[in-house]
Formats: sequence, structure tokens, C-alpha cells
Amino acid sequence: MIEYDEYMTNLERVANEHFGGHVTIMKFTTNWRVWFGTPSDRGDIQAAPVGKTFQAAAEKALATDPAYFRTGSSRCEFCGVTLHPADNYACDQCRKSLLK
Ligand SMILES: [Zn+2]
Repeated sequence: MIEYDEYMTNLERVANEHFGGHVTIMKFTTNWRVWFGTPSDRGDIQAAPVGKTFQAAAEKALATDPAYFRTGSSRCEFCGVTLHPADNYACDQCRKSLLK
């Protein structure tokens, strides 16, 4: 359990230093996701670094550029979800349906 504690301590430190103390840890049926800040919508949840275990998801989140979690001002032109990365005009789902 030492590993678990170390990841938790690192997540908390990054949250305190860069995100006003906010980090969101999500567990789903088959995976975990970690989002720095508070997810604003489903787009943020889908964009959150993912792993099969808490440790794997935490490691990915810690290795991700903090700027990635701050792209909330850019939204899909079709459905309005938050875009990651911010320079796209549409989310992956809308782009797929447009290309059909
Ligand atoms: Zn969309």
C-alpha cells in the first residue's frame, strides 16, 4: 500500500500547487480516471487520463501537462462538450458521425 499512498500524496501536492486543491478520482466498472480540477461535463470525464488501476490512472495524470486540464473554454461546435486538446473544432464523437 506504500505505492498507493505515494500516488495519493503526489496527486494532492499537484492539486494544491496548480488546481486550487482540486483533484477528482473516478472509479468505473473497468477503469479508473483522474482529473485535476473538477470535471465540468462528460467531455472532461472522457478526456481524463485512464488506467486499469488507481495507480495507473494516477501515474498518467501526474505525467500530463497541467495545461491539458485547463482547456475548459474551448467547446465542440456541435454538441458543446469541452475539448481536449483545445485546438480541435469538434469532439471525437461528433467528428466520427460527420465523417459517416
Ligand atoms: Zn461534439
